[in-house]
Amino acid sequence: MDSLAKNLQSVQQRIADAAARAGRNPNEITLVAVSKTFPAESVLAAHALGVRHFGENRVEEAVEKIPLVLRQLPNHPTTELPNITWHLVGHLQSRKVKDAAALFDFVQSVDSVALARRLSDRAAAIGKTMPILLEVNVSGEASKYGFASAPREPFFAAVREILALPHLDAQGLMTVAPIVAQADDARPRSAFRALRELRDELRARFPDRPWQHLSMGMTDDFQAAIAEGATIVRIGRAIFGERK
Ligand SMILES: *Cc1c(COP(=O)(O)O)cnc(C)c1O
Repeated sequence: MDSLAKNLQSVQQRIADAAARAGRNPNEITLVAVSKTFPAESVLAAHALGVRHFGENRVEEAVEKIPLVLRQLPNHPTTELPNITWHLVGHLQSRKVKDAAALFDFVQSVDSVALARRLSDRAAAIGKTMPILLEVNVSGEASKYGFASAPREPFFAAVREILALPHLDAQGLMTVAPIVAQADDARPRSAFRALRELRDELRARFPDRPWQHLSMGMTDDFQAAIAEGATIVRIGRAIFGERK
């Protein structure tokens, strides 16, 4: 087996083990393979091994890579659409919204009401409703994008505005945990727990939406994220190898 196949099998096994330890069904956890910095060939190779969800963090890179991948993928036999879902996981600048709306199937990194408005308008213009997640900076690190989760009221006010936008479908929350040097550092797990608690509050506050997704967990911390309820894990290095 080549290293991609081995890496993928190991990640899938670790997801299944973490789910089992948490008493969860591994089928409720979607693996998004984060292919940033890796070429179209790597995406095609992972797709051939069964991966269907891919994440990119820069629109400039995706503008090149996504069409290249789509041209080489076989279409799904019944839908006749490419059987792949592209997730934007990095910060979206307003001048890139037009490209992002056209290229991506899911935007996990909505971090302001202004961006949400622009994205809804662009989605409307091309006849799409875009599934989104709200990115939250639960750890409050100054270097991070995302809505502040404290105090709660301004965040809830932003959520209310976003839920009123007709061409967005808000399905949950996303976060990037603090990067830590030691595997036993408790801060990532606290961040994941905080995101889950915030999701539970949203369910109580805006009960007409299911708030079904918690996108949290990367190569170094996805098992802790699964223990805290992640439904989407975003994994790059453990699948594709170290980035240059
Ligand atoms: C790069 C990236 C990932 C994947 O990180 P790895 O450590 O390579 O697993 C996940 N989420 C976001 C937002 C990223 O930018």
